[in-house]
Amino acid sequence: MTDQTSSAPNIPPSAQLMQMIWPGAMAAQAIYVAAQLGIADLLKDGPKQIDELGKATGAHAPSLHRLLRALTSLGIFSETGTGIFQNTALSEALRGDLPNTMRPWAIFLSAPFMWKPFGDLYETVMSGQPAVDRVLGKPFFAYLAEHPEDAAVFNSAMTAGSEMNVPAVLAAYDFSQFERIVDVGGGQGALLRGIMSANPNLHGVLFDFQEVVSGATALTTGELASRCQVVGGDFFESVPEGADAYILKGIIHDWNDDDALRILKRCRQAIKDDGRLLLVEMILKPSGEPDPGTFGDVLMLTLVGGRERTESDFRALLQKAGFDLSRVVTTDAPNSIIEGRPI
Ligand code: SAH
Repeated sequence: MTDQTSSAPNIPPSAQLMQMIWPGAMAAQAIYVAAQLGIADLLKDGPKQIDELGKATGAHAPSLHRLLRALTSLGIFSETGTGIFQNTALSEALRGDLPNTMRPWAIFLSAPFMWKPFGDLYETVMSGQPAVDRVLGKPFFAYLAEHPEDAAVFNSAMTAGSEMNVPAVLAAYDFSQFERIVDVGGGQGALLRGIMSANPNLHGVLFDFQEVVSGATALTTGELASRCQVVGGDFFESVPEGADAYILKGIIHDWNDDDALRILKRCRQAIKDDGRLLLVEMILKPSGEPDPGTFGDVLMLTLVGGRERTESDFRALLQKAGFDLSRVVTTDAPNSIIEGRPI
């Protein structure tokens, strides 16, 4: 028997497991309901009575009371008198109006279109096929294209995640060496916005599905608009040509090796000979080391049939697509920047 170092050595294994099973399984769903109802926002100016919270959200007040009381046991909200709730440091992080808010992620990861596929993980592991295709009836991005409300939830989470990552990416990599950068699968432009704001001579192209980039108003209006182009399209068909940098954040992990290769080859066709390919991804540690990134890997398995990869996986993939992996730049965020040069 191997004995992995436990994070809580004085708690018996059965009790540690129980915490992961219970309330772990319900905690994310309970946080989701509070986030969806905007409870932390309603409490931003001070404590409120449960009837008032029920009225403001349309929720059944006695049930909302029970939900919030359960969350106080996790340090999320506190009950200062019977039925009177106020924010704590943890619930403040759910406020939608503050920078680095976790509200979009709390909503996204437990919204029904995500929660239902998670509930089918058993079948995913048995079959090796993503749950989304079975449970939602089609692949993830095709589903989003037909469900604008769920797509808005997804896009908000991607935007919030990218906004949080921007300072770490900017601190780790010098983008001023480039004239023109294409953000391939750039969502609604949070990363590109951050890079362009910090590099006033850089021109940028945001590329994603038309229905996604049409929401990138912060790039098409305002002071970045004159340096920014927004292009809708499918990266399996082509990507905008002739730039000296192609950045793909959280794209390659969405796909199996064959599809990832197809995307990278499109970038290889489009890039200038002396350009740089930049993948912003989590890098898995070599096999056997405990690594929280492995849960991201299971998420990719469940949703899209993609995977997280090790550095040597990336090196092999880049090589097949016509790039040399020139360096890996770690950042203060969980993501690294994998730099490739055209061969
Ligand atoms: N780079 C962004 C978004 C990552 S999510 C960020 O890190 O925040 C993956 C993105 O890939 C989504 O915005 C999705 O719309 C886009 N995408 C998926 N399939 C695509 C395709 N075939 N062509 C273009 N974009 C695609």
